[in-house]
Amino acid sequence: MKKIAILGSTGSIGTQTLEVVREHNEQFEVEVLTANNNAELLIKQALEFKPNTVVITNEEHYDLVQDALSKEDIKVFAGPNALTHVVQYDEVEIVLTALVGYSGLLPTIKAIEAGKNIALANKETLVVAGEIITALAQEKGVNIYPVDSEHSAIFQCLTGEFQNPIEKIILTASGGPFRGKNKDFLKHVTKKDALKHPNWEMGAKITIDSASMMNKGLEVIEAKWLFGLRNDQIEVIVHPQSIIHSMVQFEDGSMKAQMGLPDMKLPIQYAMGYPKRLKSSYPRFNFIDYPALTFEQPDLETFRNLQLAYDAMKKGGNQPCILNAANEVAVDEFLQERIGFLGISEVVEKCLDKLPLILNPQYEDLVNTDIETRIKAKEIIKEWE
Ligand code: NDP
Ligand code: MG
Repeated sequence: MKKIAILGSTGSIGTQTLEVVREHNEQFEVEVLTANNNAELLIKQALEFKPNTVVITNEEHYDLVQDALSKEDIKVFAGPNALTHVVQYDEVEIVLTALVGYSGLLPTIKAIEAGKNIALANKETLVVAGEIITALAQEKGVNIYPVDSEHSAIFQCLTGEFQNPIEKIILTASGGPFRGKNKDFLKHVTKKDALKHPNWEMGAKITIDSASMMNKGLEVIEAKWLFGLRNDQIEVIVHPQSIIHSMVQFEDGSMKAQMGLPDMKLPIQYAMGYPKRLKSSYPRFNFIDYPALTFEQPDLETFRNLQLAYDAMKKGGNQPCILNAANEVAVDEFLQERIGFLGISEVVEKCLDKLPLILNPQYEDLVNTDIETRIKAKEIIKEWE
């Protein structure tokens, strides 16, 4: 039995992780579940999976959760600080990080410090602090197993290739709901349009990131740190069917790809079960249903965010942290219908321009960069009102 802590169990990845646990209840045992606002679902999950502890980070819901679980042998904690505590439990073997955005950073650091292996969905953590996280993981002998489907694909392609240098990797992108559109079109798209992803059901933030191509930008930076790559070794190609989840080219020119239907349960399960492939009953991919797998060059002119992410990665230091914080603010404002879709990359670009570059940032520098960027992003948006 592997004992697992699921951070963000009420979200899209969190609930799919619990589906995997349900299907493999002889393999995995849930020690910790955490939610931010969705107290009802957290209670339901706790009653079904009987974890040792649940955390509700929004303290307002503490009484509700505590009352509902008072007859159970389940500890209930509230507040974000509780996350950093529960990931260190002796019993926990693997921490699956499915929080959204910057909130995942500190709990992930604490989990690694405590020697826990990480199943990482929360890509923003590696975007903000990739260098610190990977160095710490190495020091503590901790493995970071990717949950993101593209990175899981690369990880799977690398199995058995330990000695063989990578020439390059190619991350596939679906292109999102606005593939092939131009800036004139994007000016007028609404939140509802942007939330309609063609291939994946995901949380709101990543769905907007997918529509704006920021998701792929974040994934380029995530890949750099996960696989120790140079900036020029990471390419992106648009593949609208989302069947090839990504590929690796080795030094002999040979290319390996990992394929399957778009279903996050597979990469979640691979990260949790590694190195084993666990039997599953999920629907299988069939070539006859997909007679044409197609590929296109990404449009970096229309979808500025991908270019901005490449630039931030190349400059390094705290630039990816600025990119991430500005994007988090801008996406939130877009979801509240206070800025337009193209406003997202404008905010990000302005923040990257205006905030000072810090090379080799320490953790505290990143914390400050995150705070200052959020202030700057809000100022920029306020000026537009
Ligand atoms: P969701 O928005 O669906 O879920 C986020 C989870 O985190 C929820 O449990 C939510 O709690 C909790 N949460 C949100 N904000 C906070 C906070 N400030 N503090 C503590 N908990 C918080 O997101 P997804 O599951 O879609 O995504 C999670 C991560 O996985 C993201 O980093 C995303 O980029 C990555 N990812 C997601 C994929 C997907 O298919 N969904 C694919 C690849 C990567 P509550 O709902 O109770 O408020
Ligand atoms: Mg992905």
